[in-house]
Amino acid sequence: QVITRFAPSPTGFLHIGNARTALFNWALAKSTGGQMLLRIEDTDKARSTEPAIRAIIDGLEWMGIDYDGEPVMQSENEERHKEVAYQLLENGHAYKCYCTAKELDEMREKARAEGRNAFYDRRWRDKTDADAPEGQPYVIRIKAPLEGEIVIDDKVQGKVTFKAENLDDFIILRSDGSPIYQLAVVVDDHDMGVTHIMRGDDHLTNAARQTIIYNALGWDVPVMAHTPLIHGPDGAKLSKRHGALGIGEYRRMGYLPETIRNYFARLGWSHGDDEIFSSEQFIEWFSFEGLNKAGARMDFAKLENMNAHYIKEADDARLYDLMVGLADELSFEVQKAGLEAHKETVLRALSLLKPRAKTILDLITGAEFIFAQRPLQFEEKAQNALDADAVEMLRALEPELEALESWDHDTISDTMRNFAEAKELKFGKVAQPLRAALTGKAASPGCFDVLELFGKAESLSRLKETTK
Ligand code: GLU
Repeated sequence: QVITRFAPSPTGFLHIGNARTALFNWALAKSTGGQMLLRIEDTDKARSTEPAIRAIIDGLEWMGIDYDGEPVMQSENEERHKEVAYQLLENGHAYKCYCTAKELDEMREKARAEGRNAFYDRRWRDKTDADAPEGQPYVIRIKAPLEGEIVIDDKVQGKVTFKAENLDDFIILRSDGSPIYQLAVVVDDHDMGVTHIMRGDDHLTNAARQTIIYNALGWDVPVMAHTPLIHGPDGAKLSKRHGALGIGEYRRMGYLPETIRNYFARLGWSHGDDEIFSSEQFIEWFSFEGLNKAGARMDFAKLENMNAHYIKEADDARLYDLMVGLADELSFEVQKAGLEAHKETVLRALSLLKPRAKTILDLITGAEFIFAQRPLQFEEKAQNALDADAVEMLRALEPELEALESWDHDTISDTMRNFAEAKELKFGKVAQPLRAALTGKAASPGCFDVLELFGKAESLSRLKETTK
């Protein structure tokens, strides 16, 4: 059975790159009938926070990514990590190093001067306890191979080789007895039964170090797949401005979770030319072969267009709830109250608002004309459409509308077209001022739609208020 895991460090919000890693692991687990486990890597106590843990769990839930079992807290496994470090020590795969900070600095200095990456000179590698200085603290270092190569058979990158000479005998246990990240990851992945590791390619060097630990322990190395990171539109590292944001930011910008799932799955993975696909399809189609080798570039315009697509597809009642929820989250008090007070109208208006919206925020803004305070405040463009001639024209239109017995789209449309013809006006010269008078805005759903939405009484009351 395939067991994947998502192993975020709770040191900030749930970053979009990590969310995508979770998405891939989830798809792999689901597509194979396996499991995805969640491990919170909270060993960096100074930087790990409770709100960050919440943000991860809430973010996954919002994205619709479910994990199996309870989250594993890495810090709770420290004793086990320590035990394994000592096991490696006993088996001769690791050793105690008593170097002082000063000695290490000197080694670093020397390595820098000689242009070497690996700086530790392994001076304690072949010593015994008899050589140990009395009462001095020590760290435990792994005996990394002295020569040859460490090869990672990566499902995305292919064979990646690291020269042994570039990898130090790195520390696995600090002098205070706390494990180093590399050890904790290997031990936890092993103990959790992880068969497949998928994560960002910024972890490739870690993969080499972790392979050394796996080999020393005689454990099987899980299947590994390191995916290229997401880049900005310019190809550079993703910046905040270009989308390096927490998953919560995307929610607050008004994106739907299905958009985020689709867009970010597609960013780094492909199935032919398919751009729009459901999570079910993504799971069905998912395979390592589809993962791209080259880094993908974030494109906000594409993300917005995809969101527009999913907004059109979404159920109105759900969208309404999302609008109220977002207005609440963003402390848009007027909008929230307005949406709630005019629920029925907003729900009917959604079919008009959806085609024009790219985000939930657009839907909220688009609905403002429904609950705007009366008398209406006019946008500048709307005000301009309501010059003296236009107001005069609207005054003449009022009784014609008032006389209507039936208030449906066709009747209204016929009346207005006849009116425009009789006045020898282009239709737009009637429609534009009317829309402005009814909504206070220059952009809104079409004027017949607005008239129908409001009904006769409300439409005439708004119209009269403007022309009086
Ligand atoms: N905790 C690491 C991170 O958040 C991931 C470790 C891993 O996936 O092996 O970048």
